[in-house]
Amino acid sequence: MRVLVVEDEKKVANFIKHGLEEERYIVETVNDGISAIDVVMNNHFDAIVLDVMLPGKDGLTLLKEIRDSGISTPVILLTARSTVEDKVAGLDLGADDYLPKPFSFDELAARLRSILRRSSPEKSTKLRAGDLILDTVSHLAYRHGREIELTTKEYALLEYMMRNKNRILSRSTITQHVWKHNFDPESNIIDVYIKRLRSKIEKDDEKPIVQSIRGVGYRLREVANEE
Ligand code: CA
Repeated sequence: MRVLVVEDEKKVANFIKHGLEEERYIVETVNDGISAIDVVMNNHFDAIVLDVMLPGKDGLTLLKEIRDSGISTPVILLTARSTVEDKVAGLDLGADDYLPKPFSFDELAARLRSILRRSSPEKSTKLRAGDLILDTVSHLAYRHGREIELTTKEYALLEYMMRNKNRILSRSTITQHVWKHNFDPESNIIDVYIKRLRSKIEKDDEKPIVQSIRGVGYRLREVANEE
């Protein structure tokens, strides 16, 4: 899943970015409110971590503009102030959650998982598609009890496909959720990663789970359990 971090303090932004990357998110950072609105309008993110105190345009103004333009991406607000008024203002402007600074990274990660569950039909921390299970806390996949280790990119790709199982996903849709915005749309990198992912989740006589849709993209199918 692709996350945007809007934070002007480079140290804090890098701390969040590295932590989220370890949690297998694809992360982009922006350091001021003016460029943030541009990035949000022109890209797709699965969640936004938004600092309230920003130069140029503050986080609450930014949040209002994001919601006014009809973008419903989940937002977690970060702030140094934690007065009730600030929390109420943020939530009323359309934030999904609120985290006062200083915060523990583990709490941010858990809150992010929580808001992503809210916007997904799957409410468990484990995503399932037939006999394939993806644990969003340990970042391991399991099939027939076999433990499957995934790289960051393979994990991001599989998580996105499992959250959208049985749907045909075009290459450009996959790109928007799993790759950074400087991605070259002409490259065949998605096909390369799908192939790598398949070699891990479809071993030997296991039923194929990722289907190629000619000329369009891919679909992760829910395969019935073999009795
Ligand atoms: Ca700040």
